[in-house]
Amino acid sequence: MSNRTIGLSDEVYAYLLEHSLREPELLRRLRDETARATEMPNMQIAPEQGQFMALLVQLLGVRRAIEIGTFTGYSSLAVMMALPADARMVCCDVSKEFTDIARRYWSEAGVADRIELRLGPALGTMDELIARGGAGSFDFAFIDADKENYDGYYERALLLLRGGGLIAIDNVLWSGSVADRSNREASTEAIRRINRKVAADRRVSISMVPIGDGLTLARKLP
Ligand code: CA
Repeated sequence: MSNRTIGLSDEVYAYLLEHSLREPELLRRLRDETARATEMPNMQIAPEQGQFMALLVQLLGVRRAIEIGTFTGYSSLAVMMALPADARMVCCDVSKEFTDIARRYWSEAGVADRIELRLGPALGTMDELIARGGAGSFDFAFIDADKENYDGYYERALLLLRGGGLIAIDNVLWSGSVADRSNREASTEAIRRINRKVAADRRVSISMVPIGDGLTLARKLP
């Protein structure tokens, strides 16, 4: 028994997967292809995290979502496959190469026409959405791109969300390096800054969930 979050040994992690993971075949294939085609399979979220996010967007009744950092499309696919046909998503990324993989899988899943891919720096895309009256119109935002811009993504996501909408911020534990004082890398410092800020931010209710590489959930107060 434990009154704190337990660390997961390989055995316990395997048990967790075996007793809960329902990864659709298409997502598993995308995971395999990403591992083969890119040198950065770690940029993809863990399958149990995809399943967790799918459950979250179902609970929230998400109809409009935005993702910052799409990579080869695992999280967007997991989320869109979990939502009804009237749900829409804006996906922001700078890589044509990686999102070409994503598009193939979106097509195969039959969700490609519900996803608007915006290639280019996400700060600009988000500013444009805000300028066009998009503030308050999104139910869910997933932030998983370059860590140095997390604060900019977070502030814009807060504007784009409706009251009661949810921001999920990925990699907030950064393989544990956030707690390692000797690690002064720019990405680590950026994650520490956003973690400090969100922890004290009274505009949101929060939980930092130790799933995958750490996922902070921040719900915009209505
Ligand atoms: Ca990530």
